[in-house]
Amino acid sequence: MRSVEKQTELTKIREKIANCFDCQLSSSRANTVPGEGNPDAEILFIGEAPGATEDREGKPFCGQSGKFLDQLLAKIELSRSDIFITNTCKCRPPENRDPLPEEKAACRKFLDQQLQIIKPKIIVCLGKHSVETYLPEMGGIAKMHGKPFVSADGRVYLALYHPAAALHNGGLRQTLIDDFMIIPTLLK
Ligand code: URA
Repeated sequence: MRSVEKQTELTKIREKIANCFDCQLSSSRANTVPGEGNPDAEILFIGEAPGATEDREGKPFCGQSGKFLDQLLAKIELSRSDIFITNTCKCRPPENRDPLPEEKAACRKFLDQQLQIIKPKIIVCLGKHSVETYLPEMGGIAKMHGKPFVSADGRVYLALYHPAAALHNGGLRQTLIDDFMIIPTLLK
């Protein structure tokens, strides 16, 4: 698919998300946050769920953890325009509580459709919720962070700690920086 066609298809998914009432998060959201970025991205990041800033702006990772993520991307000479970034849930859970299993399940179809269109080489799962949703058989983030995993369908997955967790825990911060450095090798 050419870039313009991908963009058209991604816009259709955006509209479906904006009109989605399949779980209770739809009743408390200000905006849906479908995700954004390069339709030809070789690398796609999946976070947890929008926070207050993202809910207000309708854009993923535009608050504090987004700023840290931008610094990490810069360390490997990437920027938002090179990647696609989205979340396990496209709507904010009230008071930033953890997304519930049924909310993650209801939203999964949209990520599957985004992956089908973008076809990234590498999928980076940021944080426990993303890892549990997309890599449930792998034994959790503490065990598998920083170790790439090739799935049966040939996709390369990489689990990383969530930038928000690293912002609040100095030890995780260095682990996340170290794990991030594996990305350029995977992209080659
Ligand atoms: N944390 C996430 O997981 N996603 C966002 O979009 C913002 C913060």
